[in-house]
Amino acid sequence: MLKLRRRFHLKTLQDTTTLHNGVKMPWFGLGVYKVQEGEEALTSVKAAINAGYQSIDTAALYQNEDSVGQAIKESGVPREELFITTKVWNTDQRNDSVLEAFETSLNKLGLDYVDLYLVHWPVKDKYKQTWKVLENLYKEGRVRAIGVSNFNIHHLEDLMSVAEIKPMVNQVELHPLFSQPELRDYCRKQEIQIEAWAPLGQGRLLDHPVLQEIASAHHKSIAQVILRWDLQNEIVTIPKSIRESRIIENADIFNFTLSESDMEKINALNENKRFGADPDNFTF
Ligand code: NDP
Repeated sequence: MLKLRRRFHLKTLQDTTTLHNGVKMPWFGLGVYKVQEGEEALTSVKAAINAGYQSIDTAALYQNEDSVGQAIKESGVPREELFITTKVWNTDQRNDSVLEAFETSLNKLGLDYVDLYLVHWPVKDKYKQTWKVLENLYKEGRVRAIGVSNFNIHHLEDLMSVAEIKPMVNQVELHPLFSQPELRDYCRKQEIQIEAWAPLGQGRLLDHPVLQEIASAHHKSIAQVILRWDLQNEIVTIPKSIRESRIIENADIFNFTLSESDMEKINALNENKRFGADPDNFTF
């Protein structure tokens, strides 16, 4: 019952989930993977903030932190109203330069803290050491929350066997063809907030017939249906677009509700089909 009540409580783009340390994180945000540093990143992030987005997900790897920071500054929105995520890249884990990488990200963003700092991938024999650095950053108040990305259950268990602070977030590939039910269930029990990357399957799901049928019935687009499905499943979601019209469209999901039957139809699409790399077998 509690779950149902919470689902219908989601009314605005600014609604938040409360992480296990009490920090509030927007359910919805803009992803900026493959958004070019410069004009493209600047205009997309500004368009999103202008449309009411409060959360931006970047990473050192994306090489657009400078422009994200500039957009934040030019938006005129007070810093405390925004939720900024960035991530430490694998080479910095391997080179034991996590702290330096954090300082570089912070400088590029032009911020004095980030809201969420993530371990981008579970680099074998390194992520526990990386986590210690993140724990220290958290204790020093330089990040409001720390988390991981692309961690499977066994990575989380291994990490938590030594961690002083449990990750607050796990950002993973998650969309209707890869809906990760076991990992979601595990994270829910551990109070680790799940966040979906590639929520739209990087654009590959936007002609799916089952999704199209549901979308037509609600007079919504497939993208909107998927993003609404995320929210009703209590999954933080960060769709990427560089087009203002889509940035606005993707956020226009607070005026309809998917029925239980719609939700079940979408849940049933799971094929355990990844589009991205496998966290147990990546080569970067
Ligand atoms: P998404 O699933 O968000 O899909 C983005 C693609 O969909 C783009 O090609 C975009 O095109 C298109 N698109 C967006 N909205 C619409 C729409 N309404 N109608 C039609 N097409 C649309 O993929 P991402 O990989 O970007 O994932 C989202 C975010 O997750 C990333 O940007 C990044 O922040 C994060 N991420 C994290 C990873 C990790 O390892 N932690 C890995 C990958 C992503 P266009 O821009 O032209 O509109």
